[in-house]
Amino acid sequence: MATCEQIITDTIQLGGVLVFIKDQGPDFSRELLAPLRTDFENQIPFVVRDLKDLRSGKYKTRAEDLILFFDHQIDFLHIKSESSIESSLGQILQGQRILFSDKQSELAVDHIFPAITVAGWSAILANIKRELVSGVSLYEYANAQEVPCLFLDRDNVVVHNIPYNREASQVELMPGIVELIDQAHKKGYWVALVTNQSGIGRGRISWLEYKDVHQRMMALLAEQKSWIDDCMWSSFIENEAVTEGRLRPSLRKPRSGMFQIIHEKLRTKLSESIMIGDSASDLIAAHSAGVAHLFLLHSEKVSAEIQTLKEYQGKLQKKPQWTQFHFQVLDKLKDFSL
Ligand SMILES: [Mg+2]
Repeated sequence: MATCEQIITDTIQLGGVLVFIKDQGPDFSRELLAPLRTDFENQIPFVVRDLKDLRSGKYKTRAEDLILFFDHQIDFLHIKSESSIESSLGQILQGQRILFSDKQSELAVDHIFPAITVAGWSAILANIKRELVSGVSLYEYANAQEVPCLFLDRDNVVVHNIPYNREASQVELMPGIVELIDQAHKKGYWVALVTNQSGIGRGRISWLEYKDVHQRMMALLAEQKSWIDDCMWSSFIENEAVTEGRLRPSLRKPRSGMFQIIHEKLRTKLSESIMIGDSASDLIAAHSAGVAHLFLLHSEKVSAEIQTLKEYQGKLQKKPQWTQFHFQVLDKLKDFSL
């Protein structure tokens, strides 16, 4: 069984934070937080949240977080909501829940450890500090088994490009895409879609229309027993944006955010992965994420895209310490072989 130190160390290494619940009881949390602030100089990320803010949804916890409950907070795990329906705080908190208590109970927590004193807590923190300095990196462990990925742009690669298409009935697969995806799956690759959808951010396509078009594309693939393993889209667009268009600029190609999220989720081996897109920004985004093999699919705008890529290549050549940029032009999807 994992020790409390291991659970906290794993949380930190995988990007979670410790969540302390502020309460009106004995001022235990101040004493618990003091060593985190002083001895650790914020090496252990933590937040303190008011119960009412968590219950109202003002703040949320995430799957990777660890929420700590102490002996005198046991009632928090069973609370009455305004509508007086019995509800457990456990149900509105994402993440693992850990309770330090000697009371036996059927509470919705993942781990129970004996109640601790302030001195006991300091001892736990000292062990965590040692573990963080000398222990193995869980992050590397979690990413040890990496698999290459075929990254695909959507418009002009998976489906024919209809600018700002909002009609599911007009979706048509590109010739050769099913064979290409099947080839990648047979070779053990993941297949992932990374698509800029500024039409949502510009207010020209609604989110529901986008969803319908997306599902039609997936249904057409499914009809041919083909599939895409994961999909990311970015609605961000500079200027003229509706609210959707202001969200998460780092995702929009040529930035590499969508690739990084897929990489985290699917544990992709970027150095053996492939990007196929019809825009310079597809290849530049993939390159900045570390994708090694870059292919520009022929389209009406191919000359302009090649020009942009050559300029980008030229800039990188002046920085020999950076990974250089190479790409190939692909006439048709069916010409591609893994
Ligand atoms: Mg495209």
